[in-house]
Amino acid sequence: MVRAIVGANWGDEGKGKITDMLAKESDIIIRFQGGSNAGHTIINNYGKFALHLLPSGVFYHHTTSIIGNGVALNIPYLLKEIKELESKGVPTPKILVSDRAQILMPYHILQDTYEEARLAGKSFGSTKSGIAPFYSDKYAKIGFQVSELFDEAYLKEKVERVCEIKNVLFEHLYHKEALKPEEVFQTLLEYREMIKPYLCDVSLYLYQAIKDGKRILLEGQLGSLKDPDHGIYPMVTSSSTLAAYGAIGAGIPPYEIKNITTVVKAYSSAVGAGAFVSEIFGEEAEELRKRGGDGGEYGATTGRPRRMGWFDAVATKYGCRVQGTTEVALTVLDVLGYLDEIPMCVGYEIDGKIVTDFPTTVWLEKAKPVFKKYPGWKCDIRGIRNYDELPKECKDYIDAIEREIEVPITLVSNGPGREDIIIRTQK
Ligand code: GDP
Repeated sequence: MVRAIVGANWGDEGKGKITDMLAKESDIIIRFQGGSNAGHTIINNYGKFALHLLPSGVFYHHTTSIIGNGVALNIPYLLKEIKELESKGVPTPKILVSDRAQILMPYHILQDTYEEARLAGKSFGSTKSGIAPFYSDKYAKIGFQVSELFDEAYLKEKVERVCEIKNVLFEHLYHKEALKPEEVFQTLLEYREMIKPYLCDVSLYLYQAIKDGKRILLEGQLGSLKDPDHGIYPMVTSSSTLAAYGAIGAGIPPYEIKNITTVVKAYSSAVGAGAFVSEIFGEEAEELRKRGGDGGEYGATTGRPRRMGWFDAVATKYGCRVQGTTEVALTVLDVLGYLDEIPMCVGYEIDGKIVTDFPTTVWLEKAKPVFKKYPGWKCDIRGIRNYDELPKECKDYIDAIEREIEVPITLVSNGPGREDIIIRTQK
């Protein structure tokens, strides 16, 4: 049985917590896209962790954690993350890395940094983790697949060829030092030794695992609206954030993905530039930011304050649809307990017309939010474990979201901890 956990919004929906929770009932957890450019926050008995590259299943003894071929593999970063777990007393997890994964190189990070500086005010708000240059190179066929590290003669020749292209940019566009092919080659040989113990033919491993009836989780990073095709292009990430891509980024048949659990936030937050229709500003935003998540809405990777907004039903309905959502986990509901009234964006006004279907970016840039207000519940709902014990206004708010997004909400998260979860059975 394969289940995907993905985000419906701009990322930071609380996927880490839901994955960690569902990982308990899983045998295998796989990262299938992205890299170390975003982070999941997980709080458990070992402490608080911000995982960037490792799947959220690494805290359980019975699970195997996999980095799929679709991931931007930063090898030193991965090893650093493994060491960090060990230093905090987490037993060494079982980790496998696809031999078809491609390697994120130090020069990708340099290129990302130089390009952000060049674009200055017009930048995309990159985390400078090298993700965009990495995926560009992969599809331009000048990336390094892990398997290529094992043919030295071929590798040496390819490094020369790649450096020739990269150096045109480095020397003439960015006016920086040229890459030295010999150094790049040596780095790759070092990486080979570091990653060797983890390598695996992942799609073959999963083929067998599916045959054996193992419970498999695909763990997405970021959310629908950051998808390069279906998101707010060009303010998107460079790999697909959709559950469908799990089939490719892990190497399994698409029809094996039976459940798509989409994580939805009870309010909105976003990082980086781009249209964000239900965004709020000033004190109203600061209040929500301070109260949000666990200790405030600040990036897990960058520490940047997140942009804040009210729940956007238009964007979330779309976000759930493009994921192929079968059920929704609604998170951070507890955070809204301070409000007398809770605004929800239920439509966009574009050129005088009200629309409820999410448009392409050019139209989105013109959209103004249409808000509807719901009564607040004015109390702390943390600690409640039984759905029926939630205040009426809170249940009404959940029902309203469900009506808007047209997919069942089966899980409600009312706190950052593992135990802060309410199962909502369908009426
Ligand atoms: P991810 O990238 O989707 O995993 O999202 P994050 O790691 O950024 O998670 C968002 C933040 O919200 C983290 O600090 C979590 O600990 C926290 N969090 C998750 N679910 C809840 C919840 O239901 N209530 C509260 N208050 N915080 C939550």
